[in-house]
Amino acid sequence: MKKTEICKYCGGGYVPKRRGAQKFCSNSCRSLNWKNNQTIKELKAPVVNSIDDKPVLAENPSLQEKMSLAGIGNAAAGAAIAEIAKNIITPNANKPATKKDIEDLKMFFNARYLQIKNLRKDANGRLPYYDVQTGNLLYF
Ligand SMILES: [Zn+2]
Repeated sequence: MKKTEICKYCGGGYVPKRRGAQKFCSNSCRSLNWKNNQTIKELKAPVVNSIDDKPVLAENPSLQEKMSLAGIGNAAAGAAIAEIAKNIITPNANKPATKKDIEDLKMFFNARYLQIKNLRKDANGRLPYYDVQTGNLLYF
């Protein structure tokens, strides 16, 4: 049983002589379709050009154009990207200290009075502290 196909030009049904190779019911439809395509190409050409003439990049800028529009030089953007890349590949131990790291260090070094845990409170209920700067035991 032969399969009926639809002519791409006239839409009429036909039984192809060779399966897959034939798209039209007749040679006239094939040539008319080809002529039509030529006409469509000619019509399309100026349409395509007018699309190109539109400020497509301004409407939908690429990342690079966005950077330029934002007033960032490409060199600066490149440096920023390099910096980001460096942060990604730098192991944690070699990373520069974060603000929190520095705050933690400050807290540690600024702690002049360290509470002594193995001494009881004094008669007034004050806690014992070791004064780092004088080396004295203090209660307050
Ligand atoms: Zn046809």
